[in-house]
Amino acid sequence: MPDGKPAGLRCVNLDETYRCTIWSTSEYPAVCRALNPEPEMCGADRDEALAALRELEARTQPDISLVPLQVPRMG
Ligand code: SF4
Repeated sequence: MPDGKPAGLRCVNLDETYRCTIWSTSEYPAVCRALNPEPEMCGADRDEALAALRELEARTQPDISLVPLQVPRMG
């Protein structure tokens, strides 16, 4: 995903068993390499991990109310 993975979308590098298909290759992204999962991120199962991920995504999404409104000039 050359422009990064948008929040909420499944990574294209996951296979059908949810394993990374590019792990340990030169294409493995630096952001993934730098991630150090903690037990609270992973939970006890996939459902808990997805809930934690949703929470992280919600807490870190940009506040679009802070983005200046772009009003097109007329004429
Ligand atoms: S480790 Fe990174 S590249 Fe691999 S599936 Fe997960 S998000 Fe995608």
